[in-house]
Amino acid sequence: MSSRDRLLPPLGDDPERTYRLGIMGGTFDPIHYGHLVTAEQAREALDLDLVLFMPAGSPAFKQDKHVSDPEDRYATAANAAFYASRFEIDRPGVTYTVDTLGELRSRYPDNVELYFITGADAIMDILAWHDAERLASLATLIAATRPGYDIETAKARIAASGIDFDVRYIEIPALAISSSNIRELVRDGKSARYLTSESVMGYIQKNDLYVTGE
Ligand code: ATP
Ligand code: MG
Repeated sequence: MSSRDRLLPPLGDDPERTYRLGIMGGTFDPIHYGHLVTAEQAREALDLDLVLFMPAGSPAFKQDKHVSDPEDRYATAANAAFYASRFEIDRPGVTYTVDTLGELRSRYPDNVELYFITGADAIMDILAWHDAERLASLATLIAATRPGYDIETAKARIAASGIDFDVRYIEIPALAISSSNIRELVRDGKSARYLTSESVMGYIQKNDLYVTGE
């Protein structure tokens, strides 16, 4: 077992049954209730055995933006009631979801199915993601509704893509919360309380995150 295997929880030990592993990818800068509700609703709707929260090390689509230190994003994710994985954080270089899913596929046994969880905005972008075709072959996608993004547009684009995506669309309680909005509120000295957990807010304050508004 390599050291990176230990960054993943074991799953799939009973060969008689199938397991469903959810993967919630994101920047989580910071994690908030929108992420947690999305993951929890997906877990229940698709009967997932476990949801991995996987903060991206160096997100491919955010190369031109300032992103907080992975340790800060990991630490906040560790407060959640899901398994927070260092799997992407400890990978050097740019993070591509398809590479992560490929690695998860080779590390878990065949009786573990992969479900990649996204919000309506991320599913919309997915066609532009690196190697979308391979991604489609590795995981079922779960697309959750998100205020401000039209899931029907996403459906139409996916259908027109010619790529054989297996997407499960789920409707979840609408939470118009985003990490960028929380960063902005903190930077402007305004309250972001109750948009994320008290412990995440405490962590942000203790570590002076987002005050400079980079
Ligand atoms: P930022 O504003 O920095 O982009 P974000 O709030 O969009 O942050 P991300 O880390 O970019 O958070 O998103 C990770 C995943 O969570 C994406 O699939 C995104 O669609 C989903 N997501 C984030 N917030 C919500 C929400 N309020 N409702 C549904 N899905 C969400
Ligand atoms: Mg986002």
